[in-house]
Amino acid sequence: MIQPPAPVWPADSFQPVLDRIAIEIAVRAERGAPADYIPALACADPHRFGMAVAELDGTVYGVGDWQTPFSAQSLTKTFTLALVLAQEGEALWRYVGREPSGNPFNSLVQLEYEDGIPRNPFINAGALVVTDHLHSLTGDAIGTLLEFLRAESGNPDLGFNPSVAASETANGDRNAALAHFMASYGNVANPVPVLLDQYFRQCSVEATCAELALATGFLARHGIRADASSLLTRSQAKQVNAIMLTCGTYDAAGDFAYRVGLPGKSGVGGGIIAVVPGRCTLCVWSPGLDARGNSVAGVAALDPFTTLTGLSVF
Ligand code: GLN
Repeated sequence: MIQPPAPVWPADSFQPVLDRIAIEIAVRAERGAPADYIPALACADPHRFGMAVAELDGTVYGVGDWQTPFSAQSLTKTFTLALVLAQEGEALWRYVGREPSGNPFNSLVQLEYEDGIPRNPFINAGALVVTDHLHSLTGDAIGTLLEFLRAESGNPDLGFNPSVAASETANGDRNAALAHFMASYGNVANPVPVLLDQYFRQCSVEATCAELALATGFLARHGIRADASSLLTRSQAKQVNAIMLTCGTYDAAGDFAYRVGLPGKSGVGGGIIAVVPGRCTLCVWSPGLDARGNSVAGVAALDPFTTLTGLSVF
């Protein structure tokens, strides 16, 4: 007779698995290097490590530096996408695609032969388009994002770091090139300097692993926010999770799916958020990055999490 599969993570607490992973990470030599193209991030200590798991009801488990704020960077692309999809729905896909790029997150190459339409909302070009739409829809993209993150995380003081935003602005030639290039195709509605200012402030949002795991909770609750209101339909939440799985870690999305098996989104601050639909969300942080801009210890921690708990979308 065929045996039923073993139950997934039967324990009532995630704490033991987090403690075990933290011990494994502590003895790992390989850490990667902090992003140095944004000077304000370059001095981060690659030995910092934090990880949090948030359950659907807001219960949070954590280990290491899970209550230390860090630079969220591209993790915010998940939230701006959700906020725009909630208002614009399918119309958004006329301006940005939803295919993996197979190229670095800040690459320009595909934009020219694809007529200024970025491959997906998680590479920088696509995120600039999404932020442009959020700013047009609300008149205040960064304010809308902060309001959402504060409500979901329960931290009314969550904000962005002006000196990181200034550092990004001072070193933002590549993002400026992406925005100007798309503007030349008519794919940017706001003045480019306005869009870049919004985008750099968005990237420089600071939050803890606990706060970002909580803020991601709506994607595990099939679109339902912490206050039980609906941000996305169940179908839209599935769509955002699918784009995270296929595009959230850039040209390493295939390897991330292979190792971790969850929708995930990385940022060059060293954070990764991940979703177990219907069960929990995770945020892990360690500033050392691999060559594709994903946290080395972050991926190394999510990998055993799904192996040990059996919680994966596959
Ligand atoms: N602020 C960064 C940039 O625009 C965000 C990139 C990232 O986190 N992958 O280059």
